[in-house]
Amino acid sequence: MAKNKKLTDYREEIEQCVMCGTCRAHCPVFGAERKEGTVARGKIALAQALLDGDVGLEEKFLLDMSQCLLCGSCHAQCPNKVPTEEIVAATRREIAQQKGLSTFGKGVTTVLKNQGLMKTLAKGGNALSAVLFKQLPDDSGLKLRFPAPFISRDRTLPGLADKPFRDRHPEFIAGDKDQPTIAFFTGCAINYMYPEIGEAMLKTLQFLGVNIWIPKEQGCCGLPAVSAGDGATVEELADRNRAALSGRPVDWIVTACASCNAGLGEIYAQLGDDFTELTGKVKDIFVFLVEQGFADKLAELPTTAEKVRVTYHDPCHLRTQGITKEPRQILAALPQIEYVEMEDAGTCCGMGGTYSVYHYDTSKKIGAKKAGHIDESGASLVATDCPGCIMQLQDSINHAGGGQKAVHILDLVAACLP
Ligand code: SF4
Ligand code: SF4
Repeated sequence: MAKNKKLTDYREEIEQCVMCGTCRAHCPVFGAERKEGTVARGKIALAQALLDGDVGLEEKFLLDMSQCLLCGSCHAQCPNKVPTEEIVAATRREIAQQKGLSTFGKGVTTVLKNQGLMKTLAKGGNALSAVLFKQLPDDSGLKLRFPAPFISRDRTLPGLADKPFRDRHPEFIAGDKDQPTIAFFTGCAINYMYPEIGEAMLKTLQFLGVNIWIPKEQGCCGLPAVSAGDGATVEELADRNRAALSGRPVDWIVTACASCNAGLGEIYAQLGDDFTELTGKVKDIFVFLVEQGFADKLAELPTTAEKVRVTYHDPCHLRTQGITKEPRQILAALPQIEYVEMEDAGTCCGMGGTYSVYHYDTSKKIGAKKAGHIDESGASLVATDCPGCIMQLQDSINHAGGGQKAVHILDLVAACLP
């Protein structure tokens, strides 16, 4: 059974913060707001003060704890490897336990743990999309026509799938006998908003003859519940996915969403020894493809004289796990692509799941820097490995008036395959 750690379990890690301030240079929220309460050092001091009984859950405390993308950039650069994102998540669970979940947090987690409700909402949204949304002129997203609670009308949104990805395919797609068998963990964004990424994933895996299992009983990985501080929902979803993913022997559990990859691989690893087998099998699609020698196979495909210039954005949930080379390796091997590196490709886009809903103005400021770097690279496409980043990058580009398109690397891979 999954069991979250409590804030008191982090006392030792909290005490390892030496207040050096290295994290200031790496925190996207601090970069945008320049306030001490927004940076890791400030949050750790607040968590310590809460544990010591020196502060209570006042408004200012709640605001500072909400000002974190849980991106892990500070953790990755901290000389003492203080896991700030885990400490903030544990503090949010403490807050939710004492004060209850916010209305938005409650709404999000209620929907995410109920796949039937999610399907109904997606279907309703799709059927009413002409009424609810207006298409942007350059086909780069949709905008709400009417005010909606919590979502800014200024935000660009992707459309909703007419049929969820997992309902379009059989649960098992046999490949070649000598090829590995993988479980495809789709996550919610691919299932309900970007089914074309799922289709591109299938095309790529089938090109290699991989045996593909798409477990019907899988659900949300739980990352939005981590962000909301809903520990009970995180535990429930983790237990459910562990059961769903143990229904068939597989070599790997493969994701095409950086957040799902971190949810299954890193968050579940914090929930107890029951998850060791599952977390040991989680693999990002591009790590899997590189291991399968896919880059060499791409080199055999015909090239084109005209190449599309593409740059890459590192999703935080892969970068902080050290997965930076493999997505670039596949992208650069695509025969119809001219790959260019942009400045600060590894800085956060400002999405942070529910963060961009609570703090859309700060999220936009962080995204604006990224949109500037995309523009300076001269690329017409920015590719990444996370549907959440795609949503944020497109929104940032639209606000900057850049005209580029944000895509998944798999979209480009599928377009190059015969
Ligand atoms: S969190 Fe790490 S980098 Fe930041 S002040 Fe503490 S020890 Fe330094
Ligand atoms: S997890 Fe990210 S947003 Fe939060 S304090 Fe660390 S660097 Fe800043």
